[in-house]
Amino acid sequence: SRARDDQGALFAVEAEGPFAGVVFNRPMERVFSYAIPGRLRPSLRVGQRVRVPLGRSNQPVTGYVVRIDRTAEVDPGKVKEVLEVLDDPPLIDGVMLDLTRWMAGYYACSWGQALDAVVPAGVKKQAGTRIASCLTVPEEVRLARDTLALPPRQAEILELLCKAEGTLTVADVCRMAKCTTAPIASLRKRGLVHTVKRRMSRAPVPGPLDPPSAEDDHDGKAPIALTPEQADVLGRLDPSLGGDAFATFLLHGVTGSGKTEVYLSAIERVVARGREAIVLVPEISLTPQTIRRFRRRFDRVAVLHSHLSDAERHRHWRAIAAGEIQVVVGARSAIFAPTRRLGLIVIDEEHESTFKQETTPRYHARDVAVKRAQLEEVPVILGSATPALETWANADRGKYTRLTLARRVAERRMPRVDIIDMRLEKPGKGRPLHAIGGLMRSAMAEALDDDGQVILLLNRRGFHTFILCPKCGSVLKCGGCDVALTHHKERHKALCHTCDAEYDPPERCPSCKFDRLHYGGIGTERLEREVREAFPQHVIRRMDSDTMRSPGAYEQVLSAFRARQVHILLGTQMIAKGLDFPDVTLVGVVNADTSLHLPDFRAAERTFQLVAQVAGRTGRGDRPGRVLVQTYAPDAPAIAFAAKHDYLGFVAQELPEREQKGCPPFGRAVRLIARGPNEAEVVAYLDSVAGLLRELADPSVRLLGPAPAPVMKIKHLFRYHLKLLAPSPAPLQTLLRAALPMAEPSQPIELAVDVDPVSL
Ligand code: ADP
Ligand code: ZN
Repeated sequence: SRARDDQGALFAVEAEGPFAGVVFNRPMERVFSYAIPGRLRPSLRVGQRVRVPLGRSNQPVTGYVVRIDRTAEVDPGKVKEVLEVLDDPPLIDGVMLDLTRWMAGYYACSWGQALDAVVPAGVKKQAGTRIASCLTVPEEVRLARDTLALPPRQAEILELLCKAEGTLTVADVCRMAKCTTAPIASLRKRGLVHTVKRRMSRAPVPGPLDPPSAEDDHDGKAPIALTPEQADVLGRLDPSLGGDAFATFLLHGVTGSGKTEVYLSAIERVVARGREAIVLVPEISLTPQTIRRFRRRFDRVAVLHSHLSDAERHRHWRAIAAGEIQVVVGARSAIFAPTRRLGLIVIDEEHESTFKQETTPRYHARDVAVKRAQLEEVPVILGSATPALETWANADRGKYTRLTLARRVAERRMPRVDIIDMRLEKPGKGRPLHAIGGLMRSAMAEALDDDGQVILLLNRRGFHTFILCPKCGSVLKCGGCDVALTHHKERHKALCHTCDAEYDPPERCPSCKFDRLHYGGIGTERLEREVREAFPQHVIRRMDSDTMRSPGAYEQVLSAFRARQVHILLGTQMIAKGLDFPDVTLVGVVNADTSLHLPDFRAAERTFQLVAQVAGRTGRGDRPGRVLVQTYAPDAPAIAFAAKHDYLGFVAQELPEREQKGCPPFGRAVRLIARGPNEAEVVAYLDSVAGLLRELADPSVRLLGPAPAPVMKIKHLFRYHLKLLAPSPAPLQTLLRAALPMAEPSQPIELAVDVDPVSL
């Protein structure tokens, strides 16, 4: 068991010796030894960042101290010295060192790269702080101050300094004593005060973290009485809460079954036992509604969302590290929150692919969470209505403990879901509609007449989703990417959704100059127009990344919807997740097929999850809900099972297919992606990598490719990939460790290694 002090805090790593082992945010595996000069001996510790000279040029660079040694790994005559210590106290504790070392091994990056990902930029920059000259009074002066014969101004200042609570800067004293710096300088000259450089917060007094708003209090703090099912689940979690034992729970609960309520109750017990909790939610679920639920129940909640400034992030991080926070709620990177007495980790919507980071280190926050929980010896709860098949399989294998909430709270029923076969659909009454068929349209009218609210999901933004030349057949693409342009009518632009390049909508085909281009496909912007024309009496709002660009827009639309000032809310997957509005009686899925045909082994799983999640947005109040799903593939199992709310049926259908293909959760996958400006060079390079891998691989490893990546060109860089599949992670890790150092590309080609890729 890990050593904890009497408050349960983890000890910083204690080590002594004349050499520091330093790693860098670069793809270098080695730990470099540096001599610690005498002046830095007292302050240098493991977990700090330091400036050290690197390479032949001796360029000073920043690195992380990962150990302190009695011996150097290089010839002691050649060892270089640490130049400067950047942090005090250390940024990284023992658990984070172990966790990042594990990440480096598992995700095939360097230890330094993993460490650099763990510390937020605002913390590294010490954002929101400045170096100030602070004044201190030596103890003997403090005691003898009444006996000193000083000019009145200086005596006044000395008195002020002796009585002050906390440290005063020169500027503080000038302000408080209404003086210039001259009397302070005289005091210094006499040796009666000293100045020291200290890092101070820029904000004069660090205010309370995001004070609760009036809205936070309106339903009081009283916890809801749990249903018998919830109480049972909590009873099974309880022995692990606030203790010192690692355990992983899968909380499988249908939408609206009260999972969040279970998390809140579990966290309450953890907090009551003097521990802290980390709650990860997908960025999209960091809704005011969710946050309010946490704020109502706990006094000290830190919310880490993507709109924080560097200074705010830094302030939260320090508050968490100081043990001032009970609950940290945040997206992916909150898994690295520097809690002092962690007692529980919760991952809500654990199946979400946004928990996967798509830059080095390409970690999955759910898997990192399980590892962190293991290192910290605490429980972790993975919650979902539609668990990832990997998680499900881990529960089947007995690695995770499965807990089930099979029913919605308050006797609410799961909504009825009807599938609409769009091949048979007639256009709606009146003006023919493109996006919405007749059945959907009449169901919407009925729900609205009944005073219900409607949510429509279409997972594509823009007006038209492609521009085609009917003469030569070419689809207009971005100049830099192999991606079809989307027409955004409101902005009068054709956009690349991959690199955000904007083009004027072309009048002629760039290839054959034909001037009657065909604009086709339906995005949310066009859906909005159709719905406005069909329901002119109703208030409609669109929610996608085009309309939600200004900060606060999301919150504003949601509160208008809650207040029933909006009748129809339509949008991309932004509206599919987590929302809880009791008056929504109809959810319409405009096109369930958008993700079904992607070349990805997870396409069916994604489709199932999206349909099941959006269906969960209705029937959450006293009135029953209804769901209509428009599709051209009504027999696709993903859609048929989602319509029946049949997760188990879907799993029973999908797992054997995965097993047959050797795809996760049966075996592990790694994807290597090479990119560069010259296609032939990229192909030649990846061919050579493939050759090397074939030579070194264990026979259990299967290698597929090289082949063009699904998006073959992004920002003028060609992309090819290679896939590796194996029955277990070990042979893949061994192979990567052996091959990668020999496979390093030369500029300008780059290689990315994606372990457990979310799409393949
Ligand atoms: P989930 O996270 O599984 O979707 P929630 O925890 O959000 O479910 O619960 C769905 C709704 O039911 C919420 O409005 C919540 O306040 C309410 N709720 C949850 N548990 C209870 C309970 N025991 N009694 C009454 N209402 C509850
Ligand atoms: Zn582009």
